[in-house]
Amino acid sequence: MDGSVLFACQRCDALQRVPVPRQGEAAYCTCCGSRLLRRPKGGLDRPIALMTGALILFAVSNLFSLVSLRVSGMEMETTLLGTSVALWHHQSKLVAAVVFVVSFLVPVIVMTSTLYVLVSLRFRLLLPFTRRLLAFLSHLHPWEMGDVFIVSMLVAMVKLIGMARVIVDDGFYALSGAVVLALAAQSGIETWLLWRLLDRETATTVPAMNRQVSGETVS
Ligand SMILES: [Zn+2]
Repeated sequence: MDGSVLFACQRCDALQRVPVPRQGEAAYCTCCGSRLLRRPKGGLDRPIALMTGALILFAVSNLFSLVSLRVSGMEMETTLLGTSVALWHHQSKLVAAVVFVVSFLVPVIVMTSTLYVLVSLRFRLLLPFTRRLLAFLSHLHPWEMGDVFIVSMLVAMVKLIGMARVIVDDGFYALSGAVVLALAAQSGIETWLLWRLLDRETATTVPAMNRQVSGETVS
């Protein structure tokens, strides 16, 4: 990929046309020197691999309990979805709904949608709804709080030590791994690059379709 891209500096607002950097390099503002855009090494292959791993670990984390509590000879354990179900049955339906959305629903939608868009662009498939999903993801990311959920669970476990025996189960390790892999995948994704790839694919597909409709042969 070569050429240039029009970019506004988020620090000094200077609008400038900068050359598209090569893999592993970045472009900087000519006015204030802050980084405008970067192009991570590994292209889209790395985030695709990381996000696939995150999805697998997230699925595994739902098969096992996250933590077990032992109090007065009784043992209780809960899964990721079990926390929302328990809150629902204890008259905290609003909290249960919020926990379900931010800890399960949004992460699943973000991970699957991101993988869908990445695969669509990497393999030039131009799958349906790629453009809509790419725009939708930018609005959804602030609601993705898997890392916050992990930290809040750790804080709760520390507070429970002394009152109960807390045992960290396999589900917690799998969920932590899923959050780390998803964050690593997101750090390797540059939104401007995805939009550029999408525009390039759209630009090459539409004229080809027009030529097919008009009866010309397309090689
Ligand atoms: Zn600047």
